[in-house]
Amino acid sequence: MFETTIAGSLPKPEWLAEPEKLWPKWKQEGDALRQAKADATLLWIKAQEDAGLDIIGDGEQARQHFVHGFLEQVEGIDFENKVKMGIRDNRYDAMVPQVVAKLRLKGRVHAMEAQLLRAHTKKKTKFTLPGPMTIVDTVADRFYGEGKEGRIQMAMAFAELLNQEALALQADGIDIIQFDEPAFNVYMEDAAEWGVQALERAVQGITVTTAVHICYGYGIQANVDWKNTLGHEWRQYEKVFPALAKSSIKQVSLECFHSHVPMDLIALLKGKDVMVGVIDVASDVIETPEEVADTIGRALQFVSKEHLFPCTNCGLAPMSRDVAWKKLQALAKGAELARQRF
Ligand SMILES: [Zn+2]
Repeated sequence: MFETTIAGSLPKPEWLAEPEKLWPKWKQEGDALRQAKADATLLWIKAQEDAGLDIIGDGEQARQHFVHGFLEQVEGIDFENKVKMGIRDNRYDAMVPQVVAKLRLKGRVHAMEAQLLRAHTKKKTKFTLPGPMTIVDTVADRFYGEGKEGRIQMAMAFAELLNQEALALQADGIDIIQFDEPAFNVYMEDAAEWGVQALERAVQGITVTTAVHICYGYGIQANVDWKNTLGHEWRQYEKVFPALAKSSIKQVSLECFHSHVPMDLIALLKGKDVMVGVIDVASDVIETPEEVADTIGRALQFVSKEHLFPCTNCGLAPMSRDVAWKKLQALAKGAELARQRF
């Protein structure tokens, strides 16, 4: 009961990449970089186990950013000539690569870290991939054409590639494959209309547990400012949850702690496992076990015990290692307290 899991990313050690950055520069090259990525992955597997988490991830140590890490292995993308683009409905600018030709995977994307993860923990494993709609929002298009039709076509093309990697992750022995779709909380109509369909394409043939993570983003200033404009009730999930409830995706996340998401929106996810965000990623203040257990208690009004998975609100990548480590412990301790209480 109350199996704990993280959204996905964890801070990179400073010998691997620049600390506390969303798009950090690598500190190594070539073989040394490959080894450093593997070492950091091992380190976080151990840290998650020591903290007492139940579902273990790779901490996304081998990818610079959760979207671009995948794109680096895609043919048809020009990484040399990045362009500045406003992403998440112009919430902030990012330097993004461009789609310039038909998309194809160059080979496996995450084999190294997925296989390391499987080999070094006996616990359940989760692996994250960017969702098709969020990829489309984090890349510039010079190939599929303007407008909605082009975007849908490009999303479906990415979904096919994601499916190839997801099937390979399943073969690696990963237990839960999660797609990260922060864009679902930005383009709500599109998410319900075709975003969920693209996800369905990405999970074709996947028989292990599937999940989607939807959030209000990393704890960076642009996101904090955006959240301040959303009013006292955040109802973004309300538009996409009904479409997800009808989908084959088994687990869905939502932000709960320090968010203005009405808890009763969970009721829209009938039948699904719900990853309840009990850890704030926009604050360095460490949650107490009581706070975590309280949030779990509030969520229990709308989801049954066996369907509730305590989770972080989002990834911890831009935080300090020390804060992230303490937050992992708070998550596990809070879930333990909730097990006693409920
Ligand atoms: Zn997130």
